[in-house]
Amino acid sequence: MNEPVLTIVVPCFNEEEVLEETNKRLRAVLQHAVHDHLAAHGSTILYVDDGSKDRTWDLISRFIRDYADVTGVKLSRNFGHQNALIAGIESSRPYSDCVVTIDADLQDDVNTITKFLEKYQEGYDIVYGVRDKRDTDTFFKRNTALLFYRIMDKLGVKMVPNHADFRLLDRRVLNEFVKYQEENVFLRGMIPLLGFRSTKVYYNRAERYAGKSKYPLKKMLNFAIDGITSFSIAPIRMVTYLGMGVAGIGFLAALYAVIQKILGHTVTGWSSVILSIWLIGGLQLIATGVIGEYIGKIFKETKHRPRYTIEKQTLADQHTAFTRRAL
Ligand code: UDP
Ligand code: MG
Repeated sequence: MNEPVLTIVVPCFNEEEVLEETNKRLRAVLQHAVHDHLAAHGSTILYVDDGSKDRTWDLISRFIRDYADVTGVKLSRNFGHQNALIAGIESSRPYSDCVVTIDADLQDDVNTITKFLEKYQEGYDIVYGVRDKRDTDTFFKRNTALLFYRIMDKLGVKMVPNHADFRLLDRRVLNEFVKYQEENVFLRGMIPLLGFRSTKVYYNRAERYAGKSKYPLKKMLNFAIDGITSFSIAPIRMVTYLGMGVAGIGFLAALYAVIQKILGHTVTGWSSVILSIWLIGGLQLIATGVIGEYIGKIFKETKHRPRYTIEKQTLADQHTAFTRRAL
């Protein structure tokens, strides 16, 4: 088999503390892969700077200058992890046989990429990196993640548990993927929808090499809500059932009130009235919120805005290997 031209896509948001080390390790992996005939000469690492405010782009620029196998794309502002990944995937698609996406923080074991490539040689089009244990995550993160996978599963969204955005995708998968033009992207839910031959590779997830997580609780919660509402209308259905249930209870309560009235026990409690006001009020707010969430999504989709904007890039001249073969 011909060795594939590989691009390793790395989204970076304020990663000045880790990038030097990341680049060192990724380049070593890439060189070994080329040496072992798992990847072709001309395979590259593509850093996507997602609107960093620190020295991230300076570092990337230096890598590009110093190493022929490093390329970079700079987004015009912060578009978020998922959009940065898409920017990287779409930029590298024209000149890659396969793409591996990996976080910049070295939590994912870079040596697993070699195993991805071996699976690729065996004929798999998608290779998912799956965490063996989550003991390096905090108790909180581990359990919220578990809950999230459970909910997604119940809602009928096919996802690979304990798999983040560390995976290999074949060119044919990428070609299909770019046809999905929705603005609300949740890659973990979308990739399994594409089909193709897939497999998993297990690895131990380490702690962040340096720097802080770029996913604070609020971003995580938003990510989870987006994930759920992009793939399932089950929450709206739930609201409907909830409404039916509450209406049923309301009907029984009305019946009870009338009977009490007829029996002459009219001086009943204040607490029950207040309780029901709060309860119904709360339920209504939740229901409106859920519906609003979907309307918001529709609103966003109808605008057809681009998912990211590239400010600068250095790609073109470096892909001789691919063009040479394509000619
Ligand atoms: N990231 C990004 N844009 C953002 C947030 C994060 O490109 O708005 C990148 C970040 O630089 C890292 C990856 O996405 O390479 C995952 O982020 P992080 O490691 O902070 O998330 P965690 O592992 O804590 O979930
Ligand atoms: Mg991380």
